[in-house]
This record gives sequence, C-alpha cells and structure tokens, in this order.
Amino acid sequence: MSSTSSAGTAVRGVRRVVQGMPTSDGAGVKLTRVIGQPQLPDLDPFLMLDEFGTDKAEDYIAGFPDHPHRGFETVTYMLDGRMRHRDNHGNEGVLVPGSVQWMTAGRGLVHSEMPEQQEGRMRGFQLWLNLPARDKMTAPKYQEYGPERIPSAAPAAGVTVKVIAGRVADVTGPISQPATDPTYLDLSIEPGAAFVQPLAADYAAFLYVYEGAVRVGAGAAARTIGAHELAVLGEGEEIRLEGERAGGDGGTARAILVAGRPLKEPVAKYGPFVMNTNAELHQAFLDYQTGKF
Ligand code: FE
Repeated sequence: MSSTSSAGTAVRGVRRVVQGMPTSDGAGVKLTRVIGQPQLPDLDPFLMLDEFGTDKAEDYIAGFPDHPHRGFETVTYMLDGRMRHRDNHGNEGVLVPGSVQWMTAGRGLVHSEMPEQQEGRMRGFQLWLNLPARDKMTAPKYQEYGPERIPSAAPAAGVTVKVIAGRVADVTGPISQPATDPTYLDLSIEPGAAFVQPLAADYAAFLYVYEGAVRVGAGAAARTIGAHELAVLGEGEEIRLEGERAGGDGGTARAILVAGRPLKEPVAKYGPFVMNTNAELHQAFLDYQTGKF
C-alpha cells in the first residue's frame, strides 16, 4: 500500500476512496456524512466526519438545538458562515469563517450549535475524535481559536497550509491533544504544486478534498482524488500531494489532511455517547436523563 521514494522513505498510498452520504442531523441541517456511514463506519480514532456546505438558509437555519455529548471530542472548523454555541456549563461563543472549536466533551455537557445568520453561505466540517478510556470522564474543555490565531505555513511554492493541529515545517498548530496526537491541516495547493508531509507511520490518516482535485501518492501508485472524496491513506512515513493540473476544475485545490494515533480500544457508541462498554453507555443515558451532565 506504500511506494518508496528515491530517499527510501515509504510514501503513503491511497487505501480506498470514499464518497460522502447526504443526510440530515440536528433539527434538519443538510450535510454530507463521510466518516460514520455504512461505507466507512469509523477510522480509529476518528468516529465521524461531516461536511456541511450550502447557500440556502433552509438547509441550515434549524441548527442543532440542545443535545448532549460524552466520551469524545467534537472539532468544528468553519469555512464560511457564523455559528453560535452555548452549553449548560456557561460556555458560549461564535465561530466565524476560519474558526476552530476543539471541544472535549469528556464526562458530558449539553450544548446547542445554531446559525448566527439568516442568509448566506454556511460551510465547514465537524469531526468526531475518540478519547481513550482514561480520558472519557475528564472535565469538559474547549480549545477555541479565531482565524487570526491559526498559523499558516508556506512549505513549497504554490502551497499554503493552515496548521490547526500538528506541525508543518517549523509552524505548529495551537491544538493540544496528547492522547491521539492529531494533525489537522487545511491545504491550498495550486495546479502542479507539490507538498510532502511526514506523518507517523502507524497513525490513521485521511485526505478530504473539498475543492478541485489532488494527486495523492508517488509514481505509478498515485491517484487523483476529486472534490468531495475522502482518501483513506495507507501505511507509510509521509504523504505526497500535488495539485491536479488536468481533470479537476483547473483551479487551486482545497483539502483537509487529518491524522491521529489509533486508540485500539473497544467502542460502544450510541448517538452522542461514545464509551468503551455497553454498561458505560447505559450509565451515560442514565446520567443524562437525571441531569448529571
Ligand atoms: Fe454537538
């Protein structure tokens, strides 16, 4: 599943390509579920990836009224639009274009995520990232950063990277999560421009292209990943990407590259609760119903 570069480094290939599934969630928000659907139920430590993107207010205006979470993290990355979040512990804020909210639900909270606009475009991603058993009942915590606090790297000509988590060249993203040691990059790659990023060999990794097209891999094993396709990456020590010159829309490609350490723990999951055992799942329901979140 990997090919070898001239320097002897194992380059990650594309293990499989997954198309998202249109669905709706919350009070009727239309979105595309890419991880967490029958084609790709999970990619340890990643439990879910939703892309939302629409110009039509009726697709998002109902938002996500009060709902609970326990046992994992939700990562919201806004590309366009404004979203207000508010939880039962008194935390509240507005995500604007380019904002990241890395929410550690831990032992539990109840929150709402509602559009802070009546019209215009709403676009972004929500990723669910699992927590190890030892951290599932930790205190809830937010790492929230506006666009001005997400650093950019320019690792090669024609390549710009917003570093949300992890490191590109000498630029380090603001997010800290030792358990899964995540990388989360938002890439802009011009046609023909190339980007090489080291990734820990045994980490789960995926590339999701949201505009244009990207060549992934090296040599004969390289594959083109088009817009709204997710590439599950094979094993290897680095990933090689190139902006597609032909066959895409000819413009700058945009994609998120996400990687993290697999937890290799049993997963007991139901809706917004992700624990290790069914007994813990039942306890989560009970605690939620009795107001202990
Ligand atoms: Fe939520």
